Amino acid sequence: MEYKTFKSEAIVIREEDFAEQDKFFTVFAREYGKMGVLAKSVRKIDAKLRAGLQLLNYVSLEFVRGKNFNIATDAIVKDEFLKSKSSPSRFRDSLYICNILDNLIKGEEADERTWKLLLESLRDLEAHSNRFIFIHYFEWNLVSALGFKPELYFCLGCQERIKKGRFFFSIKDGGIFCGDCLKKKNLSRKKMLSLDKIPGTQEISKDAIKTLRLITEQNKEVLERLKIHPPLLKELKDLSKSFLSYIAEQ
Ligand SMILES: [Zn+2]
Repeated sequence: MEYKTFKSEAIVIREEDFAEQDKFFTVFAREYGKMGVLAKSVRKIDAKLRAGLQLLNYVSLEFVRGKNFNIATDAIVKDEFLKSKSSPSRFRDSLYICNILDNLIKGEEADERTWKLLLESLRDLEAHSNRFIFIHYFEWNLVSALGFKPELYFCLGCQERIKKGRFFFSIKDGGIFCGDCLKKKNLSRKKMLSLDKIPGTQEISKDAIKTLRLITEQNKEVLERLKIHPPLLKELKDLSKSFLSYIAEQ
């Protein structure tokens, strides 16, 4: 039986052992989005696919659509991200963004914006030492591409421009409330809470708002030179974690 061969550039984002000699890879393919592909006998030492299909590799992939699985027939390496692979922390950070992609994207659907973001981010993580900023760059631009772009300029309640005072990021609403609007929301609750204790909402500093604006505006020129102090770093980390976990549950 003849199978039609499909081709696409792809990045390997996950791998699992499958049966005795096979491996199952999850890739993000430029033409097809996130998809699974089975590589038969890849665990044998002489397998020709072995060199190509490896975690994090950027490959030119060929596959056929089998009855149950896509089956890889060829994978030519375009970039192995060797610098990232040679350092455990760089490798971990690169895998981390692949995991985020895997968690947030459900079905097989091509998305050029996400493809470019992934490739660009893996290259940035390889080239820069301030990698946390490029991890957040990936996270916030991915959720934006998926339709969850946060509102970072105007209060979600009164629509006033965000300038002075205290501000609070609402995870569920994907944007910021000014202190006055949050107080009003608080009045409708059975039990009044102090503003920084309201579930699903966390106070956000001006510096965090500014950094997130640079990230979502994709202003890399400024981001590359940005000095971020440990408290701001922690704030961004906590906020990103809460926001992404919320979106993953949607
Ligand atoms: Zn407001």
